[in-house]
Amino acid sequence: MRSKVLLMLVMCGVMSGWMLEPALAKRGKGGGKPAPAPLLTEAEAHDLLFMREEEKLARDVYIILYNEWNARVFDNISQAEQKHMDALLGLLDKYGLEDPILGFGKFADEELQELFDSLVAMGLESKLDALMVGALIEEVDIEDIVDAMDRTTKTDILNVYGNLVAGSENHLNAFVRNIEAITGETYVAQWISQEEVDAILGR
Ligand code: ZN
Ligand code: ZN
Repeated sequence: MRSKVLLMLVMCGVMSGWMLEPALAKRGKGGGKPAPAPLLTEAEAHDLLFMREEEKLARDVYIILYNEWNARVFDNISQAEQKHMDALLGLLDKYGLEDPILGFGKFADEELQELFDSLVAMGLESKLDALMVGALIEEVDIEDIVDAMDRTTKTDILNVYGNLVAGSENHLNAFVRNIEAITGETYVAQWISQEEVDAILGR
């Protein structure tokens, strides 16, 4: 008797399952929900999360250095870094990744935390040191973004990265102009090759 009831329940379950499936499929088609974004590779996901924090590192360092040295270049560029952060957040949302961002001056990635701490200490030494820190951040940023571009073929991600590189190149130009105005000497590359820097500076 009990096994008969069980059998009936199972059969009902199977039947309602069959009947529900096409109904759900129909609702899915007309439901107005956006189609799920294609999945990211592990490398793509890691790069997006890392770049979101690296752009924040630039923003946070420039805010501190602007407060210390009152040089407008830091104010202008920290606002551009906020836009770069926003563009990356758009991609994190699109692909369902959780935003790693912590409070001001705090980073989930340990290497970025150490880098932030040492760059701030360096940048507080003098205005020239601060500008050199800015140029260094942009050089590192350019290398990291270009590397990340090699690890994806998704056009939406490549578009954002392309804008970020263009921004970083402008920022490097601005920092170098300010550095050379103080030193009167030609800027020497700090992270990427001198050839790459010269190409970016149009030299
Ligand atoms: Zn940036
Ligand atoms: Zn920048």
